[in-house]
Amino acid sequence: MSLVEVRDLTKVYHTGTVEVAALRGLDFDISEGEFVAVMGRSGSGKTTLLNVLGCVEQPTAGRYLLAGEEVARLNDAQRSNLRLRRIGFVFQSYNLLPSLSAVDNVLLPTVYSGIPNAQQRARETLARVGLDGRAHHRPAQLSGGEQQRVAVARALINSPSIILADEPTGNLDTRSGQDVLSLFQELHREGITIVLVTHEEQVAEHAQRIVRLMDGRLESDRRVERPLDARAVLAQMLAQSERSEGPS
Ligand code: ADP
Ligand code: MG
Repeated sequence: MSLVEVRDLTKVYHTGTVEVAALRGLDFDISEGEFVAVMGRSGSGKTTLLNVLGCVEQPTAGRYLLAGEEVARLNDAQRSNLRLRRIGFVFQSYNLLPSLSAVDNVLLPTVYSGIPNAQQRARETLARVGLDGRAHHRPAQLSGGEQQRVAVARALINSPSIILADEPTGNLDTRSGQDVLSLFQELHREGITIVLVTHEEQVAEHAQRIVRLMDGRLESDRRVERPLDARAVLAQMLAQSERSEGPS
C-alpha cells in the first residue's frame, strides 16, 4: 500500500499582492518502507513539499492521502494528532531547545502524545542513535553530529511511520554527515519510511529513489540502482585519512 499519495498537489502562497506557486501539480506515491531523496535548486519547493507531507501546511489544491487518510478532510486537532502519531521531523539546524538536556529534548513530543514510560523510552531511543552516554548533555555540549542524532531520536520517540528530513546534513562536516546518513539507512532497514531533502548528489545517492523538483514541478523521478552504503563510505574515508597521515 502507498503510505503517501499525492495527486495534482498545489501550494500557492499569498504575500501582500504577490502570489508564489511553490508546488504546481505534483503526482507521486511513496510506498511504506521507501527511502526517497528529494532534490532541486533553492526555491524549487522542497521545504514546502515536506511541510505539506508533514501536515504542517495545507495544500491549496489537489489531494494528499497519508496512510489512506485524506488529510484535507481532517480538522486542526485531527491533523495535529496525525502529525504527532505518524510523522517525525528532522531539520538542518537541529532545532533543539538549548536549555534542555538531550533526554529532555527527546521527551518533548511525548508531552503532547502522552505515551507510557516516556522516560525509559527516551533513554532507549537515545541509545538507539548511539548517544546513551550523552543523556544529560545540553545541545551546546554536543558536536553538530551528536545534536543531529538527538534530533533524530526526538523524531523517533513517538514511533512515526515516516521521517521527513530537510537538509539534515547541510550543517555538518562530511564525516558527521556520513554518520547521520548511516543512521538513516539503519532506520530504513528497520522499516521506517524516509523522505530526505538535499541538494547534494552524493547525499541523495544513499536513497533508493531520487525525486527532482524544478519550479514546483516534478522534473524527474528515478530509482537508484545501487545506493551508496554510508558505513562503507565512512570506512573508506577513515582509511584514506589514516593513509594520508602516514605511519607514525
Ligand atoms: P526550497 O526548500 O526548495 O528552497 P521552498 O519550498 O522553501 O523551496 O520555497 C518555494 C517557493 O515558495 C519559493 O519561491 C519561496 O520563496 C516560496 N515560499 C516558501 N515559503 C513561503 C511562505 N511561507 N510565504 C511565501 N512564500 C513562500
Ligand atoms: Mg528548503
